[in-house]
Amino acid sequence: MLRVHEFSIAEALAAQVQRHAPAAGRVTEVDITVGALRGLEPEALRMSWEAVTHGTPIAGATLNVDLRPWTITCSTCGRTWPSPVPFVACECGDPSPVPTAGDELDLVALTIEEES
Ligand SMILES: [Zn+2]
Repeated sequence: MLRVHEFSIAEALAAQVQRHAPAAGRVTEVDITVGALRGLEPEALRMSWEAVTHGTPIAGATLNVDLRPWTITCSTCGRTWPSPVPFVACECGDPSPVPTAGDELDLVALTIEEES
């Protein structure tokens, strides 16, 4: 399912990739890192990516999304651990440790296939 949030991010990302792509060569893979605070669904982002790159020079490039986890900090016992979801209980019994996450959205790497 396409969502507006992911779609606008995919559009901005596609513009950024096309600025970085060399004139000779084809972009085959795009690696990005996304902080959990962005609330992105990787699957929705990949579908949006296919839609916005369709018919452009970077069409067919695979988008690899590295979704960073939340960091949960318990103020009762002091434990800190990564979690894919923000609201979890601590094993010490504290029902509401504090979730924190980054809001980064970084273009990490482009894989280019040289044209011969
Ligand atoms: Zn705890």
